[in-house]
Amino acid sequence: MDRYSNSTSNFKRSGKAGFIRFVVLGMTIKERYAGVLRYFDESGMEAETELMYRNPFELLVAVVLSAQCTDKRVNMVSRTLFARLPDAATMLSAGEEIIRGLIASISYPNAKARHLAGLAEILVNRFGGEVPSTREDLMALPGVGRKTANVILSVLHGEAAMAVDTHVFRVSARLGLTRGAKTPLATEVQLMRHIPESLVPKAHHWLILHGRRVCVARNPRCADCGLQDWCSYYGKKAGR
Ligand code: SF4
Repeated sequence: MDRYSNSTSNFKRSGKAGFIRFVVLGMTIKERYAGVLRYFDESGMEAETELMYRNPFELLVAVVLSAQCTDKRVNMVSRTLFARLPDAATMLSAGEEIIRGLIASISYPNAKARHLAGLAEILVNRFGGEVPSTREDLMALPGVGRKTANVILSVLHGEAAMAVDTHVFRVSARLGLTRGAKTPLATEVQLMRHIPESLVPKAHHWLILHGRRVCVARNPRCADCGLQDWCSYYGKKAGR
């Protein structure tokens, strides 16, 4: 028996004739998190970045390039970029103009070329060409904010760091995992309060992929979503 079904007053029947579903009413925040995480875990959804990279430097560059750009586009560009400029020293020698030419089809190529040139310089001069491993050092690099630093800490080092991008922000709010969170940092703090540390790296990818594939920005595909019973937005729409 489902562990949530022992409180029958919390459930009601719904659905079409011949098909009975039980939806959880007045669930606690703990129950909502447990339901959502269990769904993702059992769904078999992959829990890794869609960006292509072979080493920490390539991941860092790819994440910087991915700001307001699709991973697909970044992957198309990064193949050539990494073949030409495979490490920080080579990128530093190449300079901003050559970098800009190689990333011209990415959003905001001027700013991103400037960031990558500056980033390569700091990596070479301060970190021996390696990608640093603390949030503070990462956030000192041009083009690297808290979100990017958290991706690096999570993906490279398996740290419990929740990177909040537009998908994580939106999906968490719709599901009701966050309440009244007005900023990515507020979302991060609320998610980190409830998600077990060992699941944070996976949960980050689950929320992103769910936001890209199902809970899309304009018209979320609720009819195809397996999270209806746990979702605050859907519950309100359904009048629960
Ligand atoms: S039910 Fe709809 S709003 Fe809720 S998570 Fe699924 S797609 Fe998003």
